Amino acid sequence: MSDTTPVTNKAFGSQAKWRDKNPKAVWAQAALRSALKRGLAIAKPCEVCGAEPAEAHHPDYDKPAEVIWLCRLHHKAEHRRMKAERCK
Ligand SMILES: [Zn+2]
Ligand SMILES: [Zn+2]
Repeated sequence: MSDTTPVTNKAFGSQAKWRDKNPKAVWAQAALRSALKRGLAIAKPCEVCGAEPAEAHHPDYDKPAEVIWLCRLHHKAEHRRMKAERCK
């Protein structure tokens, strides 16, 4: 490892690993971020419970503009559900 940047928290390290494994997800999130900045997408409350702020969930990373807004809790639940479905 030649990275000289001090790691300030553990979450950052796992995020970096996640980025390596999910380049498409990173790209979709970046595309969405710029869409939000330009007013092409609007952040919404959680579609399940209405909590704010919600996170953007991409059902299909090939369609970065197609997102479902979910709070942290329901976002995690949705990923668990997707994972379970893939294992079937
Ligand atoms: Zn929710
Ligand atoms: Zn998601």
